[in-house]
Amino acid sequence: MDIQAATIPAGDASEPEVAGFDPPPDEGVQRCLQLLADAGLRPTRQRLALGQLLFLHGHRHVTAESLYDEATAANAYLSLATVYNTLNQFTEAGLLRRIAADGIKSFFDTDTSVHPHFYLEGEDVLVDVTDGLTFTRVPQALPGYEIVRLDVIVHLRRKRAT
Ligand SMILES: [Zn+2]
Repeated sequence: MDIQAATIPAGDASEPEVAGFDPPPDEGVQRCLQLLADAGLRPTRQRLALGQLLFLHGHRHVTAESLYDEATAANAYLSLATVYNTLNQFTEAGLLRRIAADGIKSFFDTDTSVHPHFYLEGEDVLVDVTDGLTFTRVPQALPGYEIVRLDVIVHLRRKRAT
């Protein structure tokens, strides 16, 4: 397949001639608008601001507090309650997966597939397990129930110096 022809529609003079250079400044906003539209969410100012922090930088694990700090640093001027509400709306719309790692603290994962995590106790950090995890036996569901998913969080702490 001719990749140039596939990515740059013929006759559209507004398209860049060469791919791979800096995208136009509004490309991230466009991607966010599309993401929100696909999820059935209205593109409010706070959803766009947080969506750009969340969805344009690969897979991420955030808490409401860590995202609030990022939004503040980016001059988004959103309250912590707004950040929390927006994260919940994104989760309900299927854009995020909520992971309860430690008591009341929730992480929000932009990778909504089911996958195992390491939780770094005392550091409030959640990262993906990337070197594989195998189950030799999954228990039968209770009578009348079916298994929805299997969440695995491996809790880690730093080794103590000996
Ligand atoms: Zn993850």
